[in-house]
Amino acid sequence: MRRILIIEDEKNLARFIELELAYEGYETEVCSDGRSGLNKAMTQKWDVILLDLMLPELNGIEVCRRIRQVKDTPILMITARDSVLDKVSGLDSGADDYLVKPFAIEELLARLRALFRRTDTTLSSPKMTVLNFKDITLEVESHIAKKGDSVLTLTKREYDLLSMFMSNINIVLTREVLLNKIWGYESEVETNVIDVYVRYLRNKLDPLGNTVYIETVRGIGYVMR
Ligand code: CA
Repeated sequence: MRRILIIEDEKNLARFIELELAYEGYETEVCSDGRSGLNKAMTQKWDVILLDLMLPELNGIEVCRRIRQVKDTPILMITARDSVLDKVSGLDSGADDYLVKPFAIEELLARLRALFRRTDTTLSSPKMTVLNFKDITLEVESHIAKKGDSVLTLTKREYDLLSMFMSNINIVLTREVLLNKIWGYESEVETNVIDVYVRYLRNKLDPLGNTVYIETVRGIGYVMR
């Protein structure tokens, strides 16, 4: 569950946001001054921090600056005044986005989703392994196979088979190797099941049979090249 910290001193607004976010399935907590908000932000893990600009004890800019020295939790700044200066100083202090009061709850929700999308991609992109062959791509971590931009619907066996070929471009894989890798050494399955699955996979990759993705090496096995 996504956790959102709300640092807002206007009790009614904080309560309203809290209820709306809870309704959307987010877990929330409210702090009503800058100092306790900063403390909460530093000591717990949050997916997003909603931070009011004008706060008692420590203002939003200062809270934001101090969080940023240590953490990169996305911060959505809430400002009452729609002045350019506020926005600039908010973003300068490290906020990821800002929202001007009064705002519609839909706008808040949309901005939250945008922040989650942004952080999701920055988190996943550095370790995302992508295999390519012709117009086929395989996103290893997410187990997604695509032809061009469209996602291929593959069974687990078909996916495993495709993954084997794409990890071994230009290498001829014998039926025995494929069987051992995909069905396991203990398998009772006959090697000709490989031929059946290669046929399934070829149909998925290229239903019209225009492009050769997997070549047959007679008497030996298959190769992607
Ligand atoms: Ca305030």
